[in-house]
Amino acid sequence: MKKSIDVVLNGKKARDLAKKEVLEAAQDKNKVGKHLGVLKIDSRIASHRFEAFITGYEGWEWEVIIARPSVSKELTVYSTTLVAGKKAIVPPLWVPWAERILPSDVQTWDALAYQSNDSKLVHSGLPHTDINNIEKLALWRERILSPYGKTETTKRWMKNRVGPRSKTKKIAKDICINCGYFVPLSGCLGQGFGACTNAFSPNDGNVVSINNGCGSHSETSVPQGAKYISKSKLFFQDNDVKMNL
Ligand code: SF4
Repeated sequence: MKKSIDVVLNGKKARDLAKKEVLEAAQDKNKVGKHLGVLKIDSRIASHRFEAFITGYEGWEWEVIIARPSVSKELTVYSTTLVAGKKAIVPPLWVPWAERILPSDVQTWDALAYQSNDSKLVHSGLPHTDINNIEKLALWRERILSPYGKTETTKRWMKNRVGPRSKTKKIAKDICINCGYFVPLSGCLGQGFGACTNAFSPNDGNVVSINNGCGSHSETSVPQGAKYISKSKLFFQDNDVKMNL
C-alpha cells in the first residue's frame, strides 16, 4: 500500500464500500476473499483489490474503483469488475496474423498479402531500357531475392529433404554434383543447389543440394546387367507374421 494514497480513499469507509460493491457483483460471498490492498490511480481515484474465487478464473481479482471530489469526502464507485492478477492465466499477447503465419500454414488455394518490407527481397533497381539486360538479369521483376533471402533459403533447404540429410541420400553411392541429371540453378544459389531431372529419382523435378544424392544416380555403382533395382535392406517379412483368424 502506498503512503501517498488519499486517506479517505484508503480509509475504513472506502474499504467497507468496496467490499459491499464486490459482494453485490459476485452475488455469492464464497466468491469473494480477503482485501488485497489499495492502488493509487490518481490523486482522488483508487483501486481496491479483493481475492476472487471463481471457477476458471484462477489468479484473478475483484477490483473496485472508488473516487472522491477534492472538496468532499463523499465516495463514488466508478466500476466493479474482475481483473487479471499477477498469477492469473492469461492468453499471450496478440500477434498480427501476418507475423504468426508459418510456411506450413499456406494451402494451395491461399493468396498471401503483399509485403512491402520483406527483408528477403530487394528492388531490382535498374530502369527497364535494354531488352538484353532485361532478359539476362530478369529485370522485368520489381523485386529479386536479397542476400538475406538467399542465406535464409540456403539454411532452410539444407535442413529439409532438399539437403544432405535427406532420406534418399542415405542409400546414395554418390552425390548430386557428380550426377548427369543434376542441373545447377543460375546465380549464386547454383553453387549449392540444382534441379534433379531424373524421372526415376524420388527427387525428380525438385531442388536438391549438391551434396544430396539418391539411388538413381547416373553413375550408379550397381553393375550393368545386374537386377535393375538393387533392393534396400529388408525391414519386415510379412510371411513371418502369425495371424489368429
Ligand atoms: S538422380 Fe539422384 S543423384 Fe542425380 S541429381 Fe537426382 S537426386 Fe541427385
